Amino acid sequence: MERNIRNQKMNEQTVKIKNCKVPCYSLNTLVIGSGIAGLNAALCLYECGLKNIAVVTEEWGGGTSNNTGSDKQTYYKMSISGDLLDSPVKMAQDLFNGGCMHGDIALCEAVNSVRCFMRLVNLGVPFPHDRYGSYVGYKTDNDPLGRAASAGPQTSQLMFKCLSEKIQQIGIPIFNQHQVISLLDEKEKEEKKIVGAVALDKTQLNSESGGFVLFNAVNVVLSTGGPAGMYHTSVYPKSQKGSTGLALKVGAVGQNLTESQFGLASVPFRWNLSGAYQQVIPRYISTDQKQREETEFLNDFFPDSGRLSTAIFSKGYEWPFDVHKVQDYGSSLIDILVYRETVQKQRRVFLDFTQNLSVKREEGKFDFSFLSSEAYNYLEKSGILFGTPVQRLRRLNEPAYQVFKNNGIDLEKEPLEIAVCAQHNNGGLKGNIWWESNIKHLFPVGEVNGSHGVRRPGGSSLNSCQVGGLRAALFISKKYSYSPPSIHEFIPKIKQKTEEAVAFTEKIRSQPSFSTLSLKQIFEEIKNRMSCFGAIIRNKEALSKEKARAWKLYHRIEKQLSINSTEELPGVFSCLDACLTSAVYLEAMCEYLEKGGKSRGSFLVMDSDGIQPCPELSDDWKYSLGKPGAFVDKRILELHLGSQFRVKKKWVPVRQIPKPDLWFEKIWEDFRKDKIIGQERSNE
Ligand SMILES: Cc1cc2nc3c(=O)[nH]c(=O)nc-3n(C[C@H](O)[C@H](O)[C@H](O)COP(=O)(O)OP(=O)(O)OC[C@H]3O[C@@H](n4cnc5c(N)ncnc54)[C@H](O)[C@@H]3O)c2cc1C
Repeated sequence: MERNIRNQKMNEQTVKIKNCKVPCYSLNTLVIGSGIAGLNAALCLYECGLKNIAVVTEEWGGGTSNNTGSDKQTYYKMSISGDLLDSPVKMAQDLFNGGCMHGDIALCEAVNSVRCFMRLVNLGVPFPHDRYGSYVGYKTDNDPLGRAASAGPQTSQLMFKCLSEKIQQIGIPIFNQHQVISLLDEKEKEEKKIVGAVALDKTQLNSESGGFVLFNAVNVVLSTGGPAGMYHTSVYPKSQKGSTGLALKVGAVGQNLTESQFGLASVPFRWNLSGAYQQVIPRYISTDQKQREETEFLNDFFPDSGRLSTAIFSKGYEWPFDVHKVQDYGSSLIDILVYRETVQKQRRVFLDFTQNLSVKREEGKFDFSFLSSEAYNYLEKSGILFGTPVQRLRRLNEPAYQVFKNNGIDLEKEPLEIAVCAQHNNGGLKGNIWWESNIKHLFPVGEVNGSHGVRRPGGSSLNSCQVGGLRAALFISKKYSYSPPSIHEFIPKIKQKTEEAVAFTEKIRSQPSFSTLSLKQIFEEIKNRMSCFGAIIRNKEALSKEKARAWKLYHRIEKQLSINSTEELPGVFSCLDACLTSAVYLEAMCEYLEKGGKSRGSFLVMDSDGIQPCPELSDDWKYSLGKPGAFVDKRILELHLGSQFRVKKKWVPVRQIPKPDLWFEKIWEDFRKDKIIGQERSNE
């Protein structure tokens, strides 16, 4: 990957900020992040005629999209094969039914899903089709119809490959190894708007620029992905940290911050263990830290091997931990039991694909006839009623086996360590139907945009990543396609904030180290806090204490941190970002519980008056489920930072799916008169 491809159209000048000579680029739109959301946004902008644009990224090829997958990584789109009766409104309804998702956003994601999917097909993503050209689908979690498509275990990597080849082919400039550390904003009347960004060029930290780079941009598309850097137990790739804090710091509204997905994933090589990995019914074992004292711990909680093996099988397509799939020995009871072993009992848990699970003495030996009829029929139809789990896996989905083999783990020979991991953030920053945030000219797209709510059909994130960029590009090209201000107008607006950033780095570089905390330790504190208290098990008192600790740590880092080498600077900003983000997320979790919120989506709220996950677990595991129509389920919690980091909270009613007038002659007239986007108010 060539570094810093410069573009003729982009104006480059040098400005003096304190003692640093800082390059400043003026352009129409800066896209931050090079995952599938950012790259697609850049491509859509280009196709809409905007050439004065650039992508800035801390690591080309890093992030979730290019380093992640599962047995069959899914893209969720409206059904376009067979005789399935589907429609944009039906799909919107299913997205909306997930809870706490605005209906207009659901409609946008549904209506544009086929357009975005076919763009990917045309770019070369190998989604399978039959000889007549039908792009076949299958059912994924929370999907009643079979809308899921997949190009295999690495769908998002293939999307990254095709999008990045196209971006490079058309020559959109890419600032690689540039970490954005601050968004630049100004107040226009009563509204805030974004005017650019400050980045650190990680290759120039010791140069006369101090590594600082300024971007004078009319628009910023923020596609920095999920807030992965704040979790310890995580299946996000290590290269993904997230930068939601950049936007929160300038007052962008976060919504549904309580809602993330957690599920079983492998630890040594981070990968989701959904689909085939569970459908072949591996054996779950727990050991001490040194891999001794092996036990098949699930057997103590399930009454018989039939129910246990059916629950393991079901986990395949009921992958994320779901509070509604715990009771009656449901598949999510397994997540609770794995969490109990790994977090509470500090043991290690492995999936063993080399042997079938042991059964109770009175049951003789493992037999497929123990399974539910649904599971049995699936295995029979797939021709895998035989052998060991790994033999079945290789027959059912050889690529899923090879993914591990290629990463140094042979499931034929060794057990695979697992944990209940953070995987995806359904909530995030708020955007309107054009993906513009409450801060004008700032467009959060991809996972950083919290368009989804409590549950989402599997695969809707990849779709949302594409739809968001398309919508933002259409809007920008109509409303905000003008040139940025001259550098003489720009610098006075942003001078103070940029000088503060430079002064901060000077301070932490020079002040004696009186903090005993290293960057590594600070990160550990943030991550442990979120994985222990802000993941699948939530407790009101503990969260309230942890929220206060998170804020304390944030202010302490700002005031007291010092570093030994300039190379640590990017880490300082990532750390501040993760800490601020974690504090704001904990605020949201506390507020949700204050308003009487109970277990939902992918987290359990512990409640001594509640119900037990299963009779074999002690009373401390009691949790409560919300009642239909609860206050928190009819509204979306919005939260933003005011001055002095004051947290402002608002519960807004969930907007219904709109019923637009689709009379062709009317739409055509509006379209010709440019009334669809051009004359629409931007804050609709
Ligand atoms: C294991 C796993 C399996 C998944 N399976 C599915 C699935 O089957 N279907 C589905 O729909 N979704 C799935 N997801 C979710 C989906 O993959 C992600 O939501 C999606 O890839 C996010 O894309 P993105 O472009 O928003 O972010 P990313 O791909 O994470 O990209 C973020 C980019 O921003 C850059 N960046 C961050 N901060 C900065 C900064 N300050 N300055 C400069 N650059 C910055 C990063 O380097 C990176 O380039 C899965 C996720 C995981 C972890």
